[in-house]
Amino acid sequence: MTRRTRVRFAPSPTGPLHMGGVRTALYNYLYAKQKGGDFIIRIEDTDSHRFVPGAEQYIIEALRWCGIIPDEGVDAEGHVVEEASERHPHAPYRQSQRRGIYRKYAEQLVQGGFAYYAFDSSESLDAERKAAEAKGQTFIYNWQTRGRLRNSLTLPVEEVARLLEETTDWTVRFKMPEGRVVEMDDIIRGHISVDTATLDDKVLWKRADELPTYHLANIVDDHLMEITEVIRGEEWLPSLPLHYLLYEAFGWERPAFAHLPLLLKPVGNGKLSKRDGDKMGFPVFPLRWVSPEGETSRGYREDGYFPEAFVNMLALLGWNPGTEQEIFSMAELIEAFSLEKVGKSGAKFNPEKAKWFNREYLRMKSDAELAGLYSEVLAAHGVSAPPEYVEKVVGVIKDRATFVEDFWTAAPYLFVAPSGFVEKDVAKFLTPETTPCLTEVADWLNSHSGPHPESTPDIESHVRDNGWPMGKVMNAIRLALTGSASGLGIHEILSLIGPAEASRRISYLLNH
Ligand code: GLU
Repeated sequence: MTRRTRVRFAPSPTGPLHMGGVRTALYNYLYAKQKGGDFIIRIEDTDSHRFVPGAEQYIIEALRWCGIIPDEGVDAEGHVVEEASERHPHAPYRQSQRRGIYRKYAEQLVQGGFAYYAFDSSESLDAERKAAEAKGQTFIYNWQTRGRLRNSLTLPVEEVARLLEETTDWTVRFKMPEGRVVEMDDIIRGHISVDTATLDDKVLWKRADELPTYHLANIVDDHLMEITEVIRGEEWLPSLPLHYLLYEAFGWERPAFAHLPLLLKPVGNGKLSKRDGDKMGFPVFPLRWVSPEGETSRGYREDGYFPEAFVNMLALLGWNPGTEQEIFSMAELIEAFSLEKVGKSGAKFNPEKAKWFNREYLRMKSDAELAGLYSEVLAAHGVSAPPEYVEKVVGVIKDRATFVEDFWTAAPYLFVAPSGFVEKDVAKFLTPETTPCLTEVADWLNSHSGPHPESTPDIESHVRDNGWPMGKVMNAIRLALTGSASGLGIHEILSLIGPAEASRRISYLLNH
């Protein structure tokens, strides 16, 4: 019987979700939806030292903003589900709330001879590390060293029983077999084999906090939650042999694995890091993040990106649809996505391309929708204007904008008259030669400002018919209308603000 597709995104709340993490969640989501399966969110928070307050909420809010909505793990309001129900049969989904589950699995491995109890203190392990370093070597807890360390493989049975009973700083370690080659398959990378001689005896469970480590909790929960495919970042590939061996030791059916390529910096071949955004001037986080220390990192949302544009851009960072198509709605992504078309090598992030996507999505939106969004920006600048007017403005300047905010920065003068003028432009264009022309134009415009002007008066022809120097006079007029000699075409501005307002602005410049 084929199993129902169930995939999960399993973030650790150690900070804000980097765009690479959002891409992992997205690919899981697309995969699940395409197969008519379930997409689950599980919070892997067993490492209390790395827990960052607010990170879990951030992750969930970021995914919601992107339209990546889980079937299980998080409720409709965006809270991690704490109690089992029909829709959320595997709750709780926070590993810290599942702590009671894992010990028996760790013990089961010890009983089966796949793991052992280790009693080494952190001081003695530090001493081992230092001694190895002094010899230019690295200490590894593995088949070569475990035979001389303090664990249930070396200590007498009674001593082990006593230590288990009386002490609390012991751990359960996986007994990595020596001299085995683990043969693995990855949907993206194909066949991989790794010699276990290179691997260490990872800690699986800690008596001190009665918590599992990532490896044990991850495997146990993937099994209990009936996960069919594990789709995660390349940084987890080195853990794959251990995970394979854990499935084998438990005798459980293994999910299939797909390790996604890294996201690379725009220049060079380095991995895109959390710090790059601030250094290079683009966001690496979906939403703005303020760390508990008060440090702020910019976010795509606050920088004015549409979530659809961000998602579309991310989808193509690593996945190649195999056609020329670049613009995909979420529904189209669900249909077209395939793990087989995800590349092995790192995907270079291009911030200019991110802007390109936003521009494309901005153009695809109706003037009415953009006017609604722009009205919010205007309100933030203390401006209110009739919706029909905002819509008209948007229609005229849409092609020049990447973000809704650009409507304002490009042409605030379509809503507020300039109160000051660029001095060097005043010096250049408000001259004894142009002043009388402006006075005349102001009057002429007023004569065209009846209650229902038929059409926008044609200033250019008027200037030409009067035989005035075209460039100089037009620039002087633009200066009056916008505050500087640059900006939209005068005719466009006039068609929006109307002749009466234009006339008023010219008089204001003449009298300023
Ligand atoms: N908790 C791990 C992380 O933070 C999950 C890795 C996995 O998906 O197995 O990325």
